[in-house]
Formats: sequence, structure tokens, C-alpha cells
Amino acid sequence: MATGWVYDERYMWHDTGRSSAHNEERKWIQAWEHYENPETKRRFRNLIDVAGLLDDLAPLKPRKATEEEVLRIHADAYVERVRAMSEEEGGDAGVGSPFKRGGYEIALLAAGGTLTAVDAVLDGHVQNAYALVRPPGHHAEKDWGRGFCIFANVAVAVRHAQRVRGLERVAVVDWDVHHGNGTQHAFEDDPSVLTISLHQDRWFPRDSGMIEERGTGAGLGSNINIPLPPGSGHGAYVAAFERVVIPALRAFRPDLVMVASGFDGSMYDPLGRMMAYSETYRQMTALVMEAADSLCGGRLVLSHEGGYSPIYVPFCGLAVMEQLSGQRTIAGDPMFESASTAGGQELQAHQDAVIALAEQLLSGIPRAATATAR
Ligand SMILES: [Zn+2]
Repeated sequence: MATGWVYDERYMWHDTGRSSAHNEERKWIQAWEHYENPETKRRFRNLIDVAGLLDDLAPLKPRKATEEEVLRIHADAYVERVRAMSEEEGGDAGVGSPFKRGGYEIALLAAGGTLTAVDAVLDGHVQNAYALVRPPGHHAEKDWGRGFCIFANVAVAVRHAQRVRGLERVAVVDWDVHHGNGTQHAFEDDPSVLTISLHQDRWFPRDSGMIEERGTGAGLGSNINIPLPPGSGHGAYVAAFERVVIPALRAFRPDLVMVASGFDGSMYDPLGRMMAYSETYRQMTALVMEAADSLCGGRLVLSHEGGYSPIYVPFCGLAVMEQLSGQRTIAGDPMFESASTAGGQELQAHQDAVIALAEQLLSGIPRAATATAR
């Protein structure tokens, strides 16, 4: 079976405007493209195409999520506010989530594209799937947009998988360099959804993603944060997967694994200070696939989040798509030699210490009641 591929030119029409970086009050900064602009994603799609891989993927045409579907995660007043602003000239969905006229429909198409990918996998039409959607979703909160995100694409898809498709347990692995705060908050009191976020320690949002945030109430233990120190490279990411992420999935026994896939943990990203490279993403994909194979028939859906290096995101994305589809193209990674031999790529002692702390969370993961209850 093929790997599903969700893409739509309309995602690239989501308009974040020109930007004076992070400080909108400061007037004397020459405006530049917004970090979250279409080019990085379009180049990812184009590299998949010219590398010859696109022809072997199963194209999935995204639909718009319905209001009912996004209301499973978001507040009525928030959805209405975004809709109303979109009818006029657009605005900001919250803090740092700009959009222009018509942005509401594109945000619904981003959530809907992730739903399309989930349905295709659950229907057995594809083995696994990647949704290259825009705007991203993992920072979006119940009643406000944040960090370039409007609707929580992955969280909306998780609830769809449970409420409409009847799955009991869903796990979300977030390898974006920023904390998946929105996904954590959507499910922190819910033991049926395991959320795991690997991110750069105290980066964005600055005040969230601490290792102590383990879920609340009945959901205690169902949220795992691995706040890796800045400068973490291939060794740290792979160790975190082998020692925490994969054992956590095995303990939780999900019916579906979703990945919030950002490539801003790469060595060349302007919005992160980590050192991952294409093989890091390939290996993390391989490890998650292996776990999904043994736990839930290989049911795996990735939805695109951040990643802001127009040069390098495409090669990280290509490595993931090659791994998902079991193919190798001749495109290669022009930065591989430089990135993989850089100092500090091996697991460092202070990174090992954080991963060791996260390992202690494994015993607290909510287990499936019984084998028959699944
Ligand atoms: Zn990010």
C-alpha cells in the first residue's frame, strides 16, 4: 500500500503578511517576509516532485473541516471571531497568528487535510500519510490562536478518530522544536490521549513545556514533555526516541499514532537552536513506524507544523517521505556531510540527564484497562 500525501495549493495562499520580526511596536525594522511564509513548504513539495517520489505517493485531496469538527477542540466564540475577521480584512487570531481575508477557510482546510489523512489511513486506503498543511496547529489554544497557528489540526483529528471513527486511544508525538502547548492543553485531563512533545527547553512558548507538566486529574501521566537543551543534535534526538518516546508508545498501546511534524529542530533553522539533520528525521520516522507496526497495524499520520529554513526543510521532509514510503531517491542531502560531522552531534552528558529524568515518567503512563476492552 502507498503512502498518502495531502497537499493543496490553497494552503500556500494563507497570507501571513510582511513582518518586522517579533516586535510589532518597533517601527524601525525593515519589513521582511513573515517567517511562516509559503516558500519553505512549497519547496518541500517541489523537492518530493523533482526527486521522483511524488508519483509513488497516493494523492489525497483535502476537505474543509466542518465547524462541528473544530468545535470539538475550540470555543464557539473563538471560531466565530476568526470567521468574522476573515470575512473582512483578516487580522490576528490571537497572538502571532496573522491571516488575511479568507484565512478562515484555509485554516479549516488545514484541519480538514489532517482529517483526510486520518480517514485514508483508517479506511485502509493508504499505509500511512503525511499532510503538508498550512497554517500549522500545535500552538493553537481552545479560544485563541498562537505562534502562527489558528486551529489545532492534530487535536481536531484526534477527536475525530475517537468520536467518529471509534478509536479508543490515540498518541501524539510532537518533534517540532517548539512546545506543543495546544495539543497538551486539549488533552491534559484525558487518559485516552497520550501527548509527547520534544522541544528546545524554555524556548516557545517560554513558560510551557516543562518536564513537570504531566497531565491533570484523570489524565495525570498522559502528557510527557522532553525539554532538550539548546544545541541538542542527532544523538540526543535518537536517544530521546529510543529511551522515552518509543517505550511510552509501547506502554500506552495506541490505536493510532499521530506526529506533529515540524522541521525547525534542524541545524539550519532560524527559529530554533538545535542540530538535527535529515537522517535524524529519517531515524525518528523509522522508530515511530516500527512502534506503530507492532502496536496498531502501522496506522501513522503526520501533520506538518513548523520549519523555517527554505533551503533545508525540503531535505528533512524528503527523508521522512522516503522512510514512510520505503523508497530512496537520488536527491540526497547536500548538507549531510557538514551537519553530521559537526561537533556536538553525539549525545552530551547534560542532554542525557534530561532524557534520564523523562524516562522516570514512563511508569506513570495510563495503561489500557484490559486487552479485551480495546
Ligand atoms: Zn515550531
